[in-house]
Amino acid sequence: MTQSVAEFQEKMRLLSKAFLTELPVKTKAIETAWLQFQDQKNPEALQSAQRKAHGLESTSKIFGYRELSQAAANLERALKRLLQDSPAWNGEPDQAVHQQITAHITELNRLTVKPRQDQALDYTKKLNDARCIDPEAASKVFVVDDDQESAQELAMQLSYYGYEVEVFGKLAKFRSAIQKNPHAMVLMNIEFSDDDHAGLRAMKEIQQKMDEPVQVMFLSSNDDLALRLETVRAGGIAYLTKPINSTDLIDQLDSFAALQTQEPFRVLMVDGSDAVLAYHAAILELAGMTVKTVSTADAVMKTLLEFNPDVILVDTYMPECSGIELTTVIRQIDGLLNLPIIYLSSENDFNTQQEAMRLSGDDFIVKPVEPERLVSAVTLRIRRARLLRGLMVRDGLTGLFNHTAIKEQLNREIVRSNRLKTPLSFAMVDVDFFKKINDKHGHAAGDRVLKSLARLLKQRLRGTDIVGRYGGEEFAVILTDTDAPGASRVIDEIRNVFSRLIHMSDNREFTVTFSCGIADIKHFPDAKSVSDAADKALHKAKKKGRNQVMTSAE
Ligand code: GH3
Ligand code: MG
Ligand code: MG
Repeated sequence: MTQSVAEFQEKMRLLSKAFLTELPVKTKAIETAWLQFQDQKNPEALQSAQRKAHGLESTSKIFGYRELSQAAANLERALKRLLQDSPAWNGEPDQAVHQQITAHITELNRLTVKPRQDQALDYTKKLNDARCIDPEAASKVFVVDDDQESAQELAMQLSYYGYEVEVFGKLAKFRSAIQKNPHAMVLMNIEFSDDDHAGLRAMKEIQQKMDEPVQVMFLSSNDDLALRLETVRAGGIAYLTKPINSTDLIDQLDSFAALQTQEPFRVLMVDGSDAVLAYHAAILELAGMTVKTVSTADAVMKTLLEFNPDVILVDTYMPECSGIELTTVIRQIDGLLNLPIIYLSSENDFNTQQEAMRLSGDDFIVKPVEPERLVSAVTLRIRRARLLRGLMVRDGLTGLFNHTAIKEQLNREIVRSNRLKTPLSFAMVDVDFFKKINDKHGHAAGDRVLKSLARLLKQRLRGTDIVGRYGGEEFAVILTDTDAPGASRVIDEIRNVFSRLIHMSDNREFTVTFSCGIADIKHFPDAKSVSDAADKALHKAKKKGRNQVMTSAE
């Protein structure tokens, strides 16, 4: 759920207030650690003082207290120098260094009494641009055609794929609807019964009045070059000749309508400071991302596999280990070698940055970062990573998970379901008599059937269900939080819809069916047994006459 700008600002106000309340405690803790070090000469106390000063430096910068942040930075640098110069602890203390540190602490205390916000903050600037398109707006389709019968038929086919369709038989009604809903995708018929170019002309006029061009595809009974050119001038993004091949149409719609709007980017943030985490998380959430924040290395390991982030943002300093050590460990985990890691740190030291990048980082962002820079750096990394990952785990024809990927997902989901004690079902779907379809209508038509089934499965299942192409004309579906009877109801409905889809090849229409076998982990608790059981059930469905869904007997 994307949060609103108002919610974001409220969050920032509360965070900023909490920062001020906690400030004296934080300053005091730094001083205490320093006094302890002076007393006991233990490096842990010195290190703790340094890390605390580091935290204060970045949080105060975030909330606009530049002077305070500068004082914390000066102190941190002095503490760091002392830390690196270990002989100085044991021998006679270097009075000059100690005096300098004490002076920095005094300055910090002075500023803490009356902190001054010396930088105006505008978090929301430009951020709205980064927000995702509302997928509901993108899935609305207006069909404009005075041939009611063919318009209704088209609307029905589109609705099978999850599009919300409205049919307009009259141009006047369409004109007012598109004003109210300018993001709808329009399928405009060119020829009307009383005027051969009515649709085209109306669209040209509408486009001139709109702030943003309307996304329109033209439908026509004539394939005429001059007419095609005219449609381009009317803002047409596609030209389809009747009879409409609905698979082609859906292909076009999908690519334009952003219906495949990606699922939200998942970001795991690791930082020792809760305020730093909350601040950056709020920015990324405002941009529509899903963010999980953790503050210990231990929690990172626990969260990683289940949350499956697209990117990790890590501070170079962590309470119990360095961010660099942490990411090196992450890299050693199976399957995480390519997970993008972005350091988000106040570390200005070039050598440390270089070292971090050499070992495991993909990017290094110095805090505090401008909100839009943070959003764009994260977006860029995730887009690239998803693209590369997509090439490895996706099937080329259908865009679904491939065989290896779906098996990996099954293992992951079984672990999750066992932990949450929720049901999980596995379904195997196989197209009926597919060999005959290929023989009769050609391999290309067969491919289109597979694509339409893939799309239907994706559209009809929930976002939490996982769909893969298991092989040739076989698909696998993981239905989370669903037992076998529940899965059977869902897939049977899809079976019913699929059997009514009209496919086309050389202007010949045909229909196709599938069979399905289902098993759940209540009766078959591991990946191998549940997929074997689903496969057996599928064979039974085939034997019993196809075009049906069978659930595995226990
Ligand atoms: P059944 O109802 O028993 O499942 O019969 P079937 O014909 O669907 O099953 P069979 O396993 O005999 O044939 C599957 C066919 O699927 C054979 C193969 O040529 C075809 N096929 C496999 N992959 C593809 C593909 O990517 N594209 C196309 N067009 N055909 C494919
Ligand atoms: Mg098969
Ligand atoms: Mg088959």
